[in-house]
Amino acid sequence: RPSTMPFAQLDSVIGEATEIAVRFRDAGFRTYLVGGVVRDLWLDREIAHHIDLDLTTDATPDDIRRIVDPVADAVWLQGARFGTVGVRLGERDYEITTHRSEVYVETSRKPAVRFSTAIDEDLSRRDFTINAMAVELPDGELIDPFGGVADLAAGRLRTPLDPEVSFTDDPLRMLRAARFCAGYGLVVDPRVEEAMEGMHDRLRIVSVERIRDELDKLLAVADPTTGLSLLARTGLLREVLPEFDLALLESREEALVVLGPDEHHRLAALLFGLDHDVVRERLRALRASNERIRETLAILDAAAELATGVVQDPASLRRWVAAAGEERHRARALVSALVEGGDVLASRSRELEDGLVEDLADLSPPLTGEEVMAVLDLREGPQVGEALDFVRTLRLDQGPLSPEEAVRHLRAWWEDRSRR
Ligand code: ATP
Ligand code: MG
Repeated sequence: RPSTMPFAQLDSVIGEATEIAVRFRDAGFRTYLVGGVVRDLWLDREIAHHIDLDLTTDATPDDIRRIVDPVADAVWLQGARFGTVGVRLGERDYEITTHRSEVYVETSRKPAVRFSTAIDEDLSRRDFTINAMAVELPDGELIDPFGGVADLAAGRLRTPLDPEVSFTDDPLRMLRAARFCAGYGLVVDPRVEEAMEGMHDRLRIVSVERIRDELDKLLAVADPTTGLSLLARTGLLREVLPEFDLALLESREEALVVLGPDEHHRLAALLFGLDHDVVRERLRALRASNERIRETLAILDAAAELATGVVQDPASLRRWVAAAGEERHRARALVSALVEGGDVLASRSRELEDGLVEDLADLSPPLTGEEVMAVLDLREGPQVGEALDFVRTLRLDQGPLSPEEAVRHLRAWWEDRSRR
């Protein structure tokens, strides 16, 4: 292990894995720490406790299971058909995967290059050189056949093999490129960008769920700007969000940074200004959950309303809050970041809210339908609905009322209405 590398956390990560690594070695197999964790170790990003560690090995899933069973706190076999066994050891979860080359014997495409070792071949099939490094266990030797460390140092995103071949094998990698550029401050290699530009429509063969999850991961990095503009330049953004173009994107970039790394909030910010129905259809096309669709539309509708300037006094504030609920906070941030003069509107509505003593989480009418019917001596019918609307509006206009006050107002309204 080159001592110049800033692998500050390597010893502790290796330490955790030593027990199983030794078991594999004693059984005649090799294991390697692989993928994003090696990259993050090199960058000395914190390897949090809840992060799964990826290991790769020349052992088959059956062997993996046999080797880990006696010491594992839990074992997951759902992925075994695809070569992956999940293992919990103490606090840490591992995903142990048989080298890809050993599982997929009949891959669609024979690699053009022959590799001398199984680990090199496994790494060659990974998405980018920075993710195509391994650390051999238990001694910690770095395996970096494609120059991932040099690329990290130079701030470069490249594919291990030819980018066209790589993106043909899995077009989702084109979206992943954007996430890694933005998340790690990398500049995409010109040949990679060229391939993305030439192949953007291949994304159509990728499942919508994978695309959406990857877009979310891009939107969750601290500053997604460079990734999004890479997607826009290469035509990929149009595949994901067809309503979008570069100009629109540029008008949102600053706001995305201000809003912070909440991917739901940021996607809402990208969609702000589109028709309610267009937004709903876009989210459906992305197979967003019903909960997320509801939440996003609530943010956007509340933002659109706030942006008109109607929230001016306690009554209009309560009406706005009654519709927006908890999403009002994200709506405010959105208006403040995206609308000209929006910061004034947002702070005015917040000051109004802070000035109220009542609980805005409960804007329910002071009387139930049954109580309204009893007070007015009504049977079910359209008049009950009308009376309930009156009581609901009364609460929003006047703030909290006791049932007695509400009854008084209701009676007066009813008499007045009967006279008309
Ligand atoms: P993160 O830190 O966000 O989890 P990661 O690099 O660990 O990033 P994962 O999606 O967890 O990304 O994948 C783990 C590793 O598996 C990657 O580092 C890469 O080596 C490989 N990998 C993941 N997805 C692909 C893909 N679509 N094509 C090729 N290799 C991939
Ligand atoms: Mg990972």
